[in-house]
Amino acid sequence: MNIKIVETTAKSIISASKIPDADYVVNPYTGCSFACSYCYASFMGRFVGEPIETWGSYLYVKTNAVELFERELARFSTARRKSSIFLSSVTDAWQGPEKKYRLARGILQVLSKTRYPGPVSILTKSPLVQDDLATIASLPAPDVGVTITSTDDAISRAFEVHAPSASSRIEVLRTFNNAEIPTYAFIGPLFPHFRFLPNKLEELFSRIAETGTKRIYVEQINLSAYIRKRLDTAMRESAPDLVAAYTSADEAEHRRALEEMVQSMAPRHGLTIRRSTVIDHRRDAKAIKDLFQ
Ligand code: SF4
Repeated sequence: MNIKIVETTAKSIISASKIPDADYVVNPYTGCSFACSYCYASFMGRFVGEPIETWGSYLYVKTNAVELFERELARFSTARRKSSIFLSSVTDAWQGPEKKYRLARGILQVLSKTRYPGPVSILTKSPLVQDDLATIASLPAPDVGVTITSTDDAISRAFEVHAPSASSRIEVLRTFNNAEIPTYAFIGPLFPHFRFLPNKLEELFSRIAETGTKRIYVEQINLSAYIRKRLDTAMRESAPDLVAAYTSADEAEHRRALEEMVQSMAPRHGLTIRRSTVIDHRRDAKAIKDLFQ
């Protein structure tokens, strides 16, 4: 896979946010080589002059992210140091080029070195995060989230084009659970076809629970026009019944049925749904808007 990499510098790196459970977000990269066709962050291209269609083909590296982070964090008052920090909301901080740039690692090392007392939550699709396990373990209040949308690597490959396989991500949860670091699984988006394949959703919950993870975030798919366009392209050759599930996925009845399935299945696997509900970007538009602050 060829990806355009552009080294750039940022003016600021810690952004205020009202995402549930996060006071601040940190995004050391703009763009994402994992190229998920459902990604709502795809419009971020507008900030670097990239059209929405090219999402997944570029990565802008904020090379000064670590020093900027250290400087901005040093200005936090004692009270503000209790705030929660989330890494990252509109990119994956552990995609391939992180091996070279180590920005996520540098940011975690700053948090560790300064004994940052507030919750530090990370979310990734990448096993690369395991390289930073020791640093994460050294934080006073870490929380490691892994996005897992399916147990089926073929489905994952279709929608999460260059992301690490679903099965490898499940193992990441196990690694962190074995190290006794708190974890959660982010099931986002909740694939619409689960409505007609409940055994697949059951399997997903079962595989997550087997790793020792107890908490899940679940989010309905965002079918805004700019995302639907990319999804339609991704599903050009999909089976008609799969396409039909996505066509009806914006209907309230469809979303309600999916939510009911989640609410009844999760407790059977000992899983707690964070915020006690399936997040719906339309119902929770403000929270989603805040992702991009
Ligand atoms: S990994 Fe996350 S940020 Fe990257 S393309 Fe996929 S959904 Fe978007």
